[in-house]
Amino acid sequence: MKLICIGRNYTEHIKELKNERPTDPVVFLKPDTAILLKKQPFFIPDFSNDVHHEVEILVKINKVGKYIDRKFAHKYYDEIGLGIDFTARDLQSQLKAKGLPWEKAKAFDGAAVIGKWLPKSNFEDLNNINFSLQNNQQIVQQGNTSLMLWKIDEIIEYVSKYFTLKIGDVIFTGTPAGVAKVSANDELTGFIEQTEMFTVKIK
Ligand code: ZN
Repeated sequence: MKLICIGRNYTEHIKELKNERPTDPVVFLKPDTAILLKKQPFFIPDFSNDVHHEVEILVKINKVGKYIDRKFAHKYYDEIGLGIDFTARDLQSQLKAKGLPWEKAKAFDGAAVIGKWLPKSNFEDLNNINFSLQNNQQIVQQGNTSLMLWKIDEIIEYVSKYFTLKIGDVIFTGTPAGVAKVSANDELTGFIEQTEMFTVKIK
């Protein structure tokens, strides 16, 4: 399976990193080896001094599809989750400056946290989901899916032009503002509305 990630999908996060607002979704992939195993701590890799948390709403694909129209996109998933797109920001900045791909900064082992899954039917409106991340019990990121530049069904339409979606693939839909460096002894806990979705210790 693969992880398909959307960058720059929330205006306030685009501003905080001084990025340009994209005209098309920014897309990158992480391999399955990037998934942090359940209950394992996240070890800050030695090639970075500035790993950031990015909390993101996740969508799990449940049907094979290609060239999916946004009208039918809802048929390709029935679970919503929450995760972290860990990013070695220092390395990413160097790569961006050189116009190089971001994989070393985004796709390294452990760089993808995938929490538990909730049935889509739990939600009245997928375009109005509140989610948040706490670091040592303090809220550090808060978002609502209504603020996404590209909504879930539009993302599925867009990425399926390029990549065949397969059962079990996970889409990371982008992070709201508030990304920040993680340090040893941090404990990150993610929430959708009031439901705890994951906890990760940083080492
Ligand atoms: Zn991200």
